[in-house]
Amino acid sequence: MVMNNNVWLVVPCYKEEEVLPETSTRLKSIMEDMIIRGKISESSKICFVNDGSSDKTWEIITSLCEDNSIFTGVNLAHNKGHQNALLAGLMVARKYADAAISLDADLQDDVAAIEQFVDKFLEGKDIVYGVRSTRETDTVFKRSTARAFYKLMNFMGANTLEDHADYRLMSKRALDALSEYKEVNLFLRGIVPMIGFETDIVYYERHERFAGESKYPLKKMLSFAIDGITSCSVKPIRMITSVGLLMFTISIILLIYFFVIFLIGHTVAGWTTIVISLWGIGGIILLALGVIGEYVGKIYMEVKERPRYIIESVLYEGEAYLGGKKMKYKTSSEGKSKKDKKKSKEK
Ligand code: UDP
Ligand code: MG
Repeated sequence: MVMNNNVWLVVPCYKEEEVLPETSTRLKSIMEDMIIRGKISESSKICFVNDGSSDKTWEIITSLCEDNSIFTGVNLAHNKGHQNALLAGLMVARKYADAAISLDADLQDDVAAIEQFVDKFLEGKDIVYGVRSTRETDTVFKRSTARAFYKLMNFMGANTLEDHADYRLMSKRALDALSEYKEVNLFLRGIVPMIGFETDIVYYERHERFAGESKYPLKKMLSFAIDGITSCSVKPIRMITSVGLLMFTISIILLIYFFVIFLIGHTVAGWTTIVISLWGIGGIILLALGVIGEYVGKIYMEVKERPRYIIESVLYEGEAYLGGKKMKYKTSSEGKSKKDKKKSKEK
């Protein structure tokens, strides 16, 4: 029997020596429990990715791996940030796992929800998003900035799922698709929804950080937001064009207006020309910038070498290839006739 329930947990860790002992214990018991019940395969792993920490994080991971083969570790040579560390882990997991669940090391992502992710995967979902049910544990500041962040993101054309961070499950074929996105500016939350496939949502409660402090201060959060917007959309460039167009239109309206006033004979000498040229030239400059920006945007999209399509399944000669698995493809009439035969036998 072909098993395809090898599930990996991928946990990026940056200076997490304070939380790792507890995190590893809790994750291990959850995984072992699922293995015993046969829900996931025995080769399932918990993969810690050390994101170039300067503390004892990697030592802890190494000793965990020596103690129990359920643990694996990936050590990055430098601190490359959460998104890159996560991608590194996922790309390693892709080689072995049928599905990988990414979660934070600080136990903020409720580990009790892991099984629900696995259940949805076993139901045949390719991507399962973890969405926070409440934000009660957050400070008012974090809550309002987060809200503003999602609003801005969506307004700017980067489609993200609100209150979904990076707690998610991806099947092997979703990971394969993800590996086709070659860009350096990584914003997983924006890219994953682009992949498509069948998705689902698991709601969970986000807890306080177990120990230690956030590795995402406001400064990092802001640059993360800017990164997210600029790596997913060229809308900011389009906005320059729109403003330019608007200013140019205003200058035309002003021109007509002043012309009328001139005809009536109420003009102050020189003023008209200055105001109109101010708006007119400003508008033309912005418009030109926007046009150039449009091409820069195109170049930007091209150099990312994103996949132009991702095939979900191919049908040919009566057989369907679904995610690498070969399945017998039945036309509906065939299906019916077999059922009918069965029915007639029963009779
Ligand atoms: N992290 C990382 N590299 C970094 C910063 C953070 O791998 O440069 C990891 C960190 O160890 C944690 C996750 O990313 O597992 C989320 O970070 P954190 O909990 O500090 O962020 P917050 O939850 O406060 O947004
Ligand atoms: Mg955290």
